Amino acid sequence: MNTRRNFLQNLGLSTLMLQLTPLNSWAESNILTNERYDGPVLRVAIMGLGSYGSRVADAMQACTRAKLVGVISGTPSKIKDWQSKYNIPEKNCYNYQNFDQIRNNPNIDAVYVITPNALHHNQVLRVAKAGKHVICEKPMALNAKEGHEMVDACKKAKVKLLVGYRMHFEPRTLEIIRMRNAGEFGRILFFQGLCGFRAGDPAQWRLNKQLAGGGSMMDIGIYAINGARYMVGEEPVWVTAQETKTDPIKFKEGVDETIQFQFGFPSGATASCLSTYNMNNLDKFFLNGEKGFAELQPSTGYGPIQGKTHKGALNQPITVHQTVQMEEMAQIIFENKKPIVPIDGEEAVKDLKIIDAIYLAVKTGNKVGLKL
Ligand code: NDP
Repeated sequence: MNTRRNFLQNLGLSTLMLQLTPLNSWAESNILTNERYDGPVLRVAIMGLGSYGSRVADAMQACTRAKLVGVISGTPSKIKDWQSKYNIPEKNCYNYQNFDQIRNNPNIDAVYVITPNALHHNQVLRVAKAGKHVICEKPMALNAKEGHEMVDACKKAKVKLLVGYRMHFEPRTLEIIRMRNAGEFGRILFFQGLCGFRAGDPAQWRLNKQLAGGGSMMDIGIYAINGARYMVGEEPVWVTAQETKTDPIKFKEGVDETIQFQFGFPSGATASCLSTYNMNNLDKFFLNGEKGFAELQPSTGYGPIQGKTHKGALNQPITVHQTVQMEEMAQIIFENKKPIVPIDGEEAVKDLKIIDAIYLAVKTGNKVGLKL
């Protein structure tokens, strides 16, 4: 009766995946076109079993090329829960003290670091030293210096370093990039990126400079930075930035509440962006060219991403971002597949250089030059 369900069951896919498939047209269409997948599967351990780690773990249940096989956590009760939920064997469970031992585990190919920002640098260096590929959440590090060290460490260890830029695989975003490359917007003139939400609990690590490395810019403003680059299709050559803070008790020294920043690009295009922890309903990209425009709202949330251009509504498939990201990352790692927009450590270092420059521009009030 339900042929799609029967088809998926014939492929041996789990009940959980069947529950996910209505949301996951990308995975479904790939399965339907690829039929049975017999290639290599990226065996992943997630480090940091928090809110985003849980989302990635659930999304990975629908993957064919990537599989959650291990955990690294500081919370024994979570390890137990994840073991039973995802069928993870004891030998693939680690804590922050002993995870260097992962080097002796032939059943894990990659570690996905999903911990607070300030921990990424050291954890990525340790994973690289253990000889495993690394996937790291954004922001990859707290500054460009740390970022360079991570790139170098992974090169030295001959492992890949990829960053969780899930929007780089989002079909409606990619359609705008395709249209831009085909000249359908004409010369690009302007980008606007608005990214923010109201940060709640004042005790959370995101508002702790030691763990977050900054404030909204590190967490959500980075989407406008990265988005400006992939939407305009150029690297900015200067930045100006201004900070406003309405609540200095909640947003302490070094934790930015709201920053507005502007970029100039080599072509003469400009960008105007907002990063904030003090306003909701801010998830919008707008790209304007001589011949047309593109708009995404929401532009970087978990979806569905909605948008239109001067030619009409964007109606590419709605995907589960993290499922697609992990499928693509498996191919990048095993087959050297080149994504349309890079997601490697060097790409992340560019964003970190821009963040360094934004903070400098805020501090000095000066226009800061960029060489990416
Ligand atoms: P959470 O606080 O929900 O989870 C972080 C986890 O890290 C904790 O649950 C804990 O897991 C572990 N951890 C280790 N040390 C500490 C510490 N000192 N303080 C707090 N937690 C610690 O954060 P998120 O999952 O929301 O964010 C984690 C990372 O993912 C961040 O870098 C963030 O920017 C990124 N992120 C990316 C998103 C995206 O869309 N790409 C979306 C959301 C977040 P355990 O108990 O297992 O050790």
